[in-house]
Amino acid sequence: MNDLVPAGWFDDAVALAEAQWGAGRGMSAFIYVTVSTGIGAGMVFDGKLYRGVDGAHPEIGHHVIAASGPLCACGARGCWESLASGPALAEWFRDTYPGALAPGPVDARQICAAAERGDPRARAAVDRLGTYTGLGLANLVTLFVPDVIALGGGVMQSRHLFWERIQDTIRATCRLVPHDRVRLVPAALGSEAPLAGAASAWLHRYGAA
Ligand SMILES: [Zn+2]
Repeated sequence: MNDLVPAGWFDDAVALAEAQWGAGRGMSAFIYVTVSTGIGAGMVFDGKLYRGVDGAHPEIGHHVIAASGPLCACGARGCWESLASGPALAEWFRDTYPGALAPGPVDARQICAAAERGDPRARAAVDRLGTYTGLGLANLVTLFVPDVIALGGGVMQSRHLFWERIQDTIRATCRLVPHDRVRLVPAALGSEAPLAGAASAWLHRYGAA
């Protein structure tokens, strides 16, 4: 990523678009989470994109869920992304059931398709994914208690396979906040969301000048 394109711009752009025109419309605390080859998020509070010190983009996909978990590309162990992304699903499946489903390396899409057909090994992998996705989301619920969390990204296209597991995990984990008031929804906008969000960011930055 070069200096002209800030880290997390894509997730932030979608978050802004969803906050303005999609799943977070009219909400004061909104979080967009994408689960695909990695996990990223953008947070919009009271219409403003949240950024940290010196404009740093928070790396929600790298908050640690299991200290002795798999080594993550960032160098830490057990990051959310190393447990609940598409590649994490595929890697766990290949390690746990070597050679299953196909002679070559299977990917997340093939595992979800096999879970759909009722394959018990794929089902176990998808249940595990749901638990870890749910744990990360439960942390966001406990930390921010937002009005809405919207979920997007390629893995979420198969969300019907693990949606219930996600909700069970949040219910079991978030004991001190009104988790039942936090709405968990699919992202509402399609592939045009990043472009719309980029336009929104531009307006935020330059529109009032
Ligand atoms: Zn990491």
